[in-house]
Amino acid sequence: MRILLVEDDKAIVATLGDLLREEGYDVTCASTQDSALAALEADRFDLALLDVGLPQGNGFAVCAAARSSAPDMPVIFLTASDDEYSTVAGLDMGAVDYIAKPFRPRELLSRIRAALRARQGAASSVTLGDVTVDPATGTVRKGGAELFLSALEYRLLLFFAQHKGRLVTREMLRDAIWDTAGEYVSDNSLNVYIKRLREKVEADPAEPQLIVTVRGLGYRVEG
Ligand code: CA
Repeated sequence: MRILLVEDDKAIVATLGDLLREEGYDVTCASTQDSALAALEADRFDLALLDVGLPQGNGFAVCAAARSSAPDMPVIFLTASDDEYSTVAGLDMGAVDYIAKPFRPRELLSRIRAALRARQGAASSVTLGDVTVDPATGTVRKGGAELFLSALEYRLLLFFAQHKGRLVTREMLRDAIWDTAGEYVSDNSLNVYIKRLREKVEADPAEPQLIVTVRGLGYRVEG
């Protein structure tokens, strides 16, 4: 597995680079936007870790380039802990996850494994609480009984289930259901879709335990 690490903090590059190599990953380091873009052009990577603030350029531009040249490559942003804007912007750009600095190396490793697994298992079934979504057959079961969802509700649920334990912004949801809706999804429509989905999957839709609202940011997927 090849990882592109884009980070200008030499201490982080040294410790993280060593750790990743010890885990058997092949690591390429870049400390500027230009060198990261050159690496993306020259090589294929299985995952990218992107620092947002770089001395030349920034991680967002690298993410944008990666999304177009390697759309299936998971991107994880390394963000400053108090930088809510970067966190949301990174996820909206298609990053699969973010981790706030200073981070525990073991935590980062587990996020990396989860991102690589999610990419490999995009077509295998996923669960959310007692709800199981099987993309191979397009069926949804809750506690054994089949649930009947609209195409939109299905897309939303699958997206939530694939982002378990993470923050999902409203923009990510709009992107995820765009193809089905074929038109811009307004905030109000999105609220209605999520309300209907909660009525079908939550034990108590008034007190959601699976798809939890995070005020001002979006939703956190539990279960
Ligand atoms: Ca930096």
